[in-house]
This record gives sequence, C-alpha cells and structure tokens, in this order.
Amino acid sequence: MSAKPVGQFPALRPRRLRQSPALRRLVCETRLSVEQLVLPLFVRSGKKIRKPIGAMPGVFQLSLDEMLHEARAAHQLGVPAVLLFGIPDKKDERASGAYAKNGIVQQAVRLLKKELPELLIITDVCLCEYMSHGHCGIVHTDKRGGKILNDPSLKLLARTAASHAEAGADIVAPSDMMDGRVRAIRSELDAIGFSDTPIMSYAAKFASAFYGPFREAAESTPKFGDRRSYQMDAANTNEALREVALDIQEGADIVMVKPALAYLDIIHRVKTEFGYPTAAYAVSAEYSMIKAAAAKGWIDERAVTMESLLAMRRAGADIIITYAAADVARWLAE
Ligand SMILES: [Zn+2]
Repeated sequence: MSAKPVGQFPALRPRRLRQSPALRRLVCETRLSVEQLVLPLFVRSGKKIRKPIGAMPGVFQLSLDEMLHEARAAHQLGVPAVLLFGIPDKKDERASGAYAKNGIVQQAVRLLKKELPELLIITDVCLCEYMSHGHCGIVHTDKRGGKILNDPSLKLLARTAASHAEAGADIVAPSDMMDGRVRAIRSELDAIGFSDTPIMSYAAKFASAFYGPFREAAESTPKFGDRRSYQMDAANTNEALREVALDIQEGADIVMVKPALAYLDIIHRVKTEFGYPTAAYAVSAEYSMIKAAAAKGWIDERAVTMESLLAMRRAGADIIITYAAADVARWLAE
C-alpha cells in the first residue's frame, strides 16, 4: 500500500481530517487497546510483602497474596495477561528453584489459575534468577574464566517450562537466548502431553543497558562478566531476523523483541518479514525514564507512556508487555 498522495494542494489538504477529535479518531490508523497488554509481576515467598523496587516506582516484589491482589486489580481493569518472574529464597549452580515442583513461580501459577481462571498466565522461563552466579545458563569455569554452556542448559530450560505447564501456565516464555531452546522446550512439552501450550519466545533479545532496573527487581545481576555471549549485539538487524526465523522453525508461536522503544525498527522488520504474532517488551528503563522525568515535572507521564506504547503498535507489535499495564488500562477506560 502506497502512502503517496495522488493529487496536490490546494485540492489536497491533509489538515481537513484533523479538525476535530471525532474526525481524527475516524481516520486513526493505529490503536492501543487493553486486550494487547501484558503486566509483568515479580513474585517471592512470604506474606503481605510489597518490597518496592527503587528505580521502578509503582513496581514491587510481591508475596503470593499480594501478587494475587495486584493481578486481580489489573484483570478487573481489563488486562488479559500477566508475565511471572520468580525470586527464589535460595540460589544454586543448577537453578533448581526454576523447576522445583513447589518453586515460587509454580506456586504462583497454581494460585492464579485457581483464583482468576480467566487471566492468561505467561511464565518467564529462564535460569538467571535461580543461579547463584546470575547467568541464564550453566556455567563452566576454568583458568580462562567462566563460560556459559549452551546444550547442557537446554535440559534445565525444558524442565523449567514443563514444570510451569504442569502447574497450569497458559503460555511459556523462554528468555535465556540459548541456541535451540525453543526446540528443546517444544519437544519436552509435547512429550509430557502439553502440545497445546504455546511458546512465546524472547526471539530477538538484545544485550541492553535498558535492563538495569530489572536486575534489581529480579535480583538477577550476573556475578561475573555480562550476557553478551548469548544476548544479541544492539547493532544487528539481520541477526535478529535469523534469530526470529530459527525460533519460528523450532516451534515458537509468538515472537518477541526486547527492549522495545529503542528497537522499533526490529519490531517492524520482524512483523513485516514473518507476519507472526509479535510481542514488544517495554523494559524496565523505558518505564523508569518516564517515571523519573515525570516525577521532576519535566514530562507528562500519561501522554509520554501512551505515545511510546502507540509507537510500538505502529511498528507492528500485537502484544505489549509493560510495567505500566494497569495504569494504561485505567487511562484507556477514561
Ligand atoms: Zn535469564
């Protein structure tokens, strides 16, 4: 479809269609609606705990009871889905908390499915929050330092996804960026009778400084090195498309680009080239920057948030994961 005008001024006057709110709404090309939003939640053990995350005002580590409260409030506002991250009591070198039958995410899933059966439960599948070293895979250390092992990590990721599905998760979302994880997870799910559980893969996940505040939220800062040997280089577009193609071939049902706002070109390319359901993750620093500037009175929080999320929709995102989901739902309803 061409956007090129076929006439010229004065016959063509684009301002004609901008004269009133009703006219502008009538010709509006992109809409943001509550059905597209996903709210991430950080869950931990304990009772009545709402531990604030310093760099993310309004976001908390929540005990199960408080998480239920938060999920219910968002769901009542029309938010259809939550994305769960777990903060375990103990970490080890095998990330055993990630796939424990009674792990924190597994408990959260069972509780949410029982209390809010209509709410879609998406679980983040990764090992970093559960590993003592904070990396997304198994680490082998020798004289040259630590190396993140790909293939042995796949078994643990598949096991984690399986345990989430068994607990009742509606969608599993691997975020580790190990090669072959979607295939490993798909075959494990199929083998244990969950061939209907969709996979939303963090297909193009970039090594990004925009994740800073999240690491405090999920307590998942790596103890050594960084994640650049598995997450993508911010400079690369073609590689992002290859990553997405691979995940689709391996069985991903929904593909995600993360972060969102600084990567709108990637979202656009992914959506146009593959036409798959595409998710954009508006990450922690995207949220924090708006909150911080708004707190200083420098920007209008609501307007800037809505414009940012609309830009993700315009780029091609079908699904938007945002810490502001409940606020946005409220604003959309006004
Ligand atoms: Zn991870």
